[in-house]
Amino acid sequence: MIFHVLTIFPEFFVGPFAHGVVKRAQDAGRLEIRVHNLRDYVFDRHKTVDDRPFGGGEGMVLKPEPIFLAVESLWPRRTARQKVILLSAQGRLFDQAAANRFAQDDELLLICGRYEGVDERVAEHLADEELSIGNYVLSGGELAAAIVIDATARLLPGVLGNESSAAFESFQETGHGEGLLDCPHWTRPADFRGWKAPEVLLNGNHEEIRRFRRQAAREKTGRLREDMLRGAERGD
Ligand code: SAH
Repeated sequence: MIFHVLTIFPEFFVGPFAHGVVKRAQDAGRLEIRVHNLRDYVFDRHKTVDDRPFGGGEGMVLKPEPIFLAVESLWPRRTARQKVILLSAQGRLFDQAAANRFAQDDELLLICGRYEGVDERVAEHLADEELSIGNYVLSGGELAAAIVIDATARLLPGVLGNESSAAFESFQETGHGEGLLDCPHWTRPADFRGWKAPEVLLNGNHEEIRRFRRQAAREKTGRLREDMLRGAERGD
C-alpha cells in the first residue's frame, strides 16, 4: 500500500515512521510513505499556499489550487481505491473500523491543513472523506495524518510479526475482542513488589486462559469504557 502525505512541513514526517513495525514494513517493501511538499505545487508569482479568509476574521486559509494540482498530478486518473482524506477537526471521527476500511485501499492521500484550515472546496470537490482524530483542535493535520497512517499500516498483511496479532487487539471486531478492549497483559516477574500476575495465566491451561482473558477484557471494558460494553451488548 502507498500512503501519500501533502503538507507544508514535510520534514515533520522524518520521525514518526522511522521506528518499529512501520519502519520494518517500509524496509521490506510492504508499504511506502511518500511525503509531498505542498509548496512544490504553487506556481503563482508570489508562491503562497495561503490567503486571508473571505468575509474577514482571524488567520489564514490554505488555498485550493495547489492542493487540487498536487492530487491531480499524482493521480491523473484516480481510481476508487485511491482515496483522498482531508484531516479536519470538523471531520467524522477516525476509529478502528475506518483503519480497517482504509487498509483495503491501494493508496491513501492525506491532506494536512494548517492555520484556520483549508478552503472548503477541497472538502466538497476533492476529498473522499473529511476525517478528525478526536474532539480537540490541533495546530496542523500532520500529527493526525501520522496517526491514521500508523493505525492503518499495522493492519496490512505481514506488517505485524504475527499475522493474527492485530485481530486480538482493542476495538477489533474479530478475535476475543468482539468490539471490546484488549485483555490486560502481564509479564515477568510473576510477583512484582507483592503484586502478583494472575495465577491462571501461569498454569498452561489454554482453555482456562482464553476464558480468563475474555472475562478480563469485559471487566476492563466495563470499568473504563462502559459506552463500548453497551455497544457490544446491543450488537453495534
Ligand atoms: N479552524 C478549524 C481548526 C483549524 S486547525 C476549526 O476550528 O475547526 C488547523 C488544521 O489542523 C486543520 O485544517 C486540520 O488539518 C488539522 N486538525 C486540527 N484538529 C484536528 C483534528 N482533531 N483531527 C484532524 N485534523 C485536525
